[in-house]
Amino acid sequence: MPSYPFPWQRTAAGANLLSSTGDLSVTIFEEITALATKHSAINLGQGFPDTDGPHLFKEQAAEGVAGSLNQYAPGGGILVLREAIAKHQQRFYGLSVNPETEVVVTTGATEAIAASILAFIQPGDEVITFEPFYDSYGATIGLAGGIHRTVPLNAPDFQPDIADLRAAFSTRTKMIVLNNPHNPTGAVFERAVLEEIVYLATKHDCLILSDEVYEHLTFGVPHIPIATIPGAWERTLTLSSVGKTFSFTGWKVGWAMGPAPLIAAVRTVKQFLSYSSGTAFQPAVAAALDSPTEFFDAFARDLGHRSTVLAAGLESAGMTVYRPRGTYFVVADVAPLGFTDALDLARRMPKSIGVAGIPLSVFCHAEGAQRTKTLMRFAFCKKLEVLTEAAERLSHLSTKIGS
Ligand code: PMP
Ligand code: GLN
Repeated sequence: MPSYPFPWQRTAAGANLLSSTGDLSVTIFEEITALATKHSAINLGQGFPDTDGPHLFKEQAAEGVAGSLNQYAPGGGILVLREAIAKHQQRFYGLSVNPETEVVVTTGATEAIAASILAFIQPGDEVITFEPFYDSYGATIGLAGGIHRTVPLNAPDFQPDIADLRAAFSTRTKMIVLNNPHNPTGAVFERAVLEEIVYLATKHDCLILSDEVYEHLTFGVPHIPIATIPGAWERTLTLSSVGKTFSFTGWKVGWAMGPAPLIAAVRTVKQFLSYSSGTAFQPAVAAALDSPTEFFDAFARDLGHRSTVLAAGLESAGMTVYRPRGTYFVVADVAPLGFTDALDLARRMPKSIGVAGIPLSVFCHAEGAQRTKTLMRFAFCKKLEVLTEAAERLSHLSTKIGS
């Protein structure tokens, strides 16, 4: 047995995100999902919808498998998909992207994150993320030997403080990773924040990695890709995937787009991670991206309604709720119910009350974990009756689990 820390655990958060049992194979998402399954609990922990995306695209993927789409796709992705990705950026954001040179298809956004960080980060380089941060950022920065700096996002609106943002940059900063809309807080960053990021990234000559997997999941506020801010394009890699927008998290088709030299570097690393990605899914994803605008709007409206239903349920259960402006997660504070440790509570909830959630502290380094100790993330990409039942069960939280 090799000794700790493994390279990807160099950051404290790399360790946080793993189960406390010392089992190296599971992240907190796996751990809580396994507990939810074991106790037949409603799983509002790991973020995945309980209803699949449109049947039409499932059929198209199935036809690909039944037909002849069963061998390697080109490493960068099939051209039809790269063209659809470019067309989507033009339609929604007015961005002109060259599908031949400025797009690469990846195995989910996860691989796009890993390939982008591994392509540009050398040991000792500093990488900034906001905190709480999505698990794979910390792990991949650790794998690359980078130094992970964080900028806190605090309740109630989870917007960064500009002074904190400025203070996080140094002469060794090579990249800032942005996740907008933001998992787990549900924040959608203000334009002024995006402009400041571009200004600082330009001043320090560093890259911007913008994870926009929740780009279509905003409620009453527009999504602004940071690549559209003047001066950003030449230093920005933008990532997204089929998982969230189309409710196909298991397909694991994602992409990165940006200026040709940056994409060439990401594609080179991607070759050695997976070489190519899900051939049969790629034409189906291209067709999905071509959906009428009303499809995207209706999906966001529907999710916005679910968010309101779950938030109201959590509030009546006695929690303080920070209503999200995007993503499919809502953050609630369990302190008003007398609980002092959301991680401990999350491990007990599936068995005791039949509902699972994810504590925010696992998305943080040690100091941030203290700040977020009583916060819990709940996913609302579930059927309405499931959300209502979860809220009902959660209303018995303090009586069933003594604080
Ligand atoms: N980034 C963020 C912020 C996410 O929440 C997720 C998945 N939940 C991913 C990336 C991974 O996306 P994919 O499943 O396409 O790899
Ligand atoms: N991104 C999903 C979430 O935040 C989980 C994906 C995973 O398990 N890696 O819940």
